[in-house]
Amino acid sequence: RVVLQYRDVRKLYGDFVALSGVSMEVERGQVVCLIGPSGSGKSTLLRCTNALETLDGGELLFDGVPLPRDPASIRKVRQRMGMVFQNFELFPHKTAIQNVMMGPSTVLGLSEQQSRARAEALLVKVGLSDKAGNYPANLSGGQQQRVAIARALAMEPEVMLFDEPTSALDPETIGEVLNVMKALADDGMTMVVVTHEMTFARRVADHVVVFESGQIIEQGPPAQIFDAP
Ligand code: ADP
Ligand code: ADP
Repeated sequence: RVVLQYRDVRKLYGDFVALSGVSMEVERGQVVCLIGPSGSGKSTLLRCTNALETLDGGELLFDGVPLPRDPASIRKVRQRMGMVFQNFELFPHKTAIQNVMMGPSTVLGLSEQQSRARAEALLVKVGLSDKAGNYPANLSGGQQQRVAIARALAMEPEVMLFDEPTSALDPETIGEVLNVMKALADDGMTMVVVTHEMTFARRVADHVVVFESGQIIEQGPPAQIFDAP
């Protein structure tokens, strides 16, 4: 079943064509990696996906339905997509567990007890149960990013969007984040991942999409993309 379908997507910034003719799809349970040089439009496509940007042409269907344009419907759609950014963007004055509990309690309206239980389980899942009381400043970059992943998962999203999740990390903590992402993929999560980690793309992706200058120049299974003669 197709979760995200992009048909001839076009995005402009003024006269600048950030995306054109972008057609691809993401099936349920797939990991799709977006690769290509910096400035080729990968983040723009992610921001269009969760309606942080509007399209200037073409169509983007989520679960068969075009993305809405009114703020209330956009909020609802966004709740069904988890987003993880390059720079974590945790709330600095909240502990790890408070960061993870916030969505369930304030957006989903779960009780304090339910939110805490959900957050604790997710911190176990990302290997941080012993850091629940730490503030972001007292966590490594890799640990902060794992909290950010737990926070996104706490909303029980149908799709996870990752925008260069390891690009801001020290080399020694990249692996722990990629391992959490791999485990999530193995659990069957539908994921769209912008990354420069070619080993991850080769090993974990079901489908790789190569961008250049706002266009898709190639897409297919990793074997086809990486092992072509
Ligand atoms: P990538 O994620 O592949 O590095 P981006 O999607 O971030 O690429 O950017 C694609 C191009 O669009 C770049 O040239 C970038 O400078 C430009 N761009 C991105 N956001 C904006 C914006 N808000 N206004 C103008 N240009 C932008
Ligand atoms: P990345 O390529 O890692 O996604 P960028 O540095 O291109 O990050 O973009 C960071 C932010 O700056 C984004 O919110 C993007 O929309 C904005 N931005 C990028 N390029 C431009 C630009 N040429 N003009 C205005 N805003 C831009």
